[in-house]
Amino acid sequence: MSTRAAAVRMFDYRQQLARIEAEILSAVRQVLDSGTLILGPRVVGFEEAFAQYLGGGYAVGVANGTDALAIALRVLGVGPGDEVLTVANTAIPTVSAIRMTGATPVFCDVDPSTLLLDVDDAETRVTQRTKAIVPVHLYGNAVDMQAVEEFAARNQLRIVEDCAQSCGTTLGGQATGTFGDIGCFSFYPTKNLGAYGDAGLCFTRDAYLAGEMKKVRMYGTCGTYDAQREGVNSRLDELQAAILEVKLRHLDDWIARRRLIAAEYDRGLGSAVRRVRTMPGVCHSHHLYVIQSEQRAEIIERFDAEGIGYGIHYPVPIHRMKAYAWLETAGTPLPKTERAAEQVLSLPCYPELPLDAVRHVADVVNDAVRGQ
Ligand SMILES: *Cc1c(COP(=O)(O)O)cnc(C)c1O
Repeated sequence: MSTRAAAVRMFDYRQQLARIEAEILSAVRQVLDSGTLILGPRVVGFEEAFAQYLGGGYAVGVANGTDALAIALRVLGVGPGDEVLTVANTAIPTVSAIRMTGATPVFCDVDPSTLLLDVDDAETRVTQRTKAIVPVHLYGNAVDMQAVEEFAARNQLRIVEDCAQSCGTTLGGQATGTFGDIGCFSFYPTKNLGAYGDAGLCFTRDAYLAGEMKKVRMYGTCGTYDAQREGVNSRLDELQAAILEVKLRHLDDWIARRRLIAAEYDRGLGSAVRRVRTMPGVCHSHHLYVIQSEQRAEIIERFDAEGIGYGIHYPVPIHRMKAYAWLETAGTPLPKTERAAEQVLSLPCYPELPLDAVRHVADVVNDAVRGQ
């Protein structure tokens, strides 16, 4: 039995804030003094810095990650009557966004070792109505984008990458979010790059699509009182943009810490604990460190006793949720997705987590799995 140690939280932004507080408060002060609060110079500054971070292109700041996905699908022409392929082991907003366009989500099963979209399975679900595919780079891992691109080209589909969990992840040296037509990011506080509130962003290399997304986020206008197309209100504000610009400068250091923590878990967890596999060429950003175990209940019981935080991402696959029971495909089993939902467990993983806490968590998992 491991010795009792201090409680380990799943997430706490205040530890990080204490380290960057002076920079953040100065950025906030500058915005308040500037006289501009919405879609001003700080939004443009952050968009340029983030596009640069991804290797060059166009970034369009929006209100949150859900809107980013919905706006991306919308400017690609996805709407009522269309089908959009995605996975059921994702955050609900992936599907909320598809529904916001009026399109119908169609769920594909996952590869049981990576828990990511299985392109061979997707192939079997294409119909005349399939218009787009939304691969989800779950946990900070990366979907095999070469396979997705070939599949999309064969079937004339648009690609919108859900990068809400993969900010900072690369595949063959290329950032996730830069493979498809549009890459969508969330800056929800718990994400790798988190705002102090809600924020999101769409990335594209296509100037036309970027221009259309800028119209859609602002009632369909170019900043005038004359709508060029139908739009919504989904703006990034100056305060969050200024905060994100400060935090972006630290992002690579924070991701390096996440990688150290993941490596420590890899070392500390016994061979009986199943990890989620990463494809060769992926530089994982470890938004979440996830294991799979038939003994999840036992591990959780120990965590509760020891004051260790954890998460389950996600306990109910979307096609099994009440809200989506009306979908024609809701009853279609996705065996690998459903098995994963019963076994996944996210361990605490954030940059400020001390390595001795990581070793303690790994010991507790090992003990629980061995029944000690
Ligand atoms: C967080 C998240 C989103 C949505 O982002 P919000 O900013 O909360 O709207 C979408 N997809 C995935 C996979 C997420 O984890």
